[in-house]
Amino acid sequence: MDSQLFNLTGKVALVTGGSTGLGQGMALGLAAAGADIALVDHVTSIETQVMIEKLGRRAITMEADLMKMESIPMVVEKTIATFGRIDILVNNAGIIRRTPAIEFSEKDWDDVMTLNAKTVFFLSQAVAKDMMTRGYGKIINIASLLAFQGGIIVPSYSASKGAVAQITKALANEWASKGITINAIAPGYMATNNTKAIREDEQREKSILSRIPAGRWGLPSDLQGVAVFLASPASDYVNGHVLVVDGGWLAR
Ligand code: NAD
Repeated sequence: MDSQLFNLTGKVALVTGGSTGLGQGMALGLAAAGADIALVDHVTSIETQVMIEKLGRRAITMEADLMKMESIPMVVEKTIATFGRIDILVNNAGIIRRTPAIEFSEKDWDDVMTLNAKTVFFLSQAVAKDMMTRGYGKIINIASLLAFQGGIIVPSYSASKGAVAQITKALANEWASKGITINAIAPGYMATNNTKAIREDEQREKSILSRIPAGRWGLPSDLQGVAVFLASPASDYVNGHVLVVDGGWLAR
């Protein structure tokens, strides 16, 4: 097999929401495969940057609220000013709000839809303009099992992740011919801040765990190989796909 298939040496990846959780895990995976990483988060933390630098790769940390579309030009311009290009975009930043649908507020609808879906589209658009100058790029969107299932008391989250799956396909149709692949990862139940509340609810935790064929919650490291695959030449003919990484949950 061609040893370059999964090699990201010399590539530059922009990872949103990279200060913790799945974003941190994927950023470290891409760095271990050779990429330099631009991190953006609304939280001030250089933990991930330090971990990437320990791997011998370059990294920057940008602080920005990606709920605001005005943040997008700064993030793209600063990454290109630092590293000269963006080869890989990981649209990972996302939020969840839990309230029964009957009481769900307009704010909780708008906040989730804005960050999880609108920002994914407009950041992809901004980054694709740079990728198109070289005729090559990799966009990885983070969807969810709730792109396929309705979820419980998370209506805007399910709607937003359904949108992520459809944005992925819509952009793949338009940009495949420009050398850009756009795919999504749909993680299952992963142990991060996103699921802290349900993991602390003993009954809910038990019922979720008992349904996962792998017999454990997923970890940020479980997404590393998949992120490297979708960021590397190995996936050059994979486009518009939503890759489920769920320990078998959906197969059940
Ligand atoms: P997390 O809450 O630990 O991480 C979310 C990241 O996004 C954090 O770094 C956070 O600071 C950042 N973020 C939030 N709001 C932001 C904003 N306005 N601007 C910039 N950054 C912002 O949770 P996670 O599980 O690591 O989530 C990462 C992605 O994975 C999300 O899109 C989430 O929906 C998705 N996901 C998670 C699970 C799971 O079980 N944990 C399952 C499926 C999908």
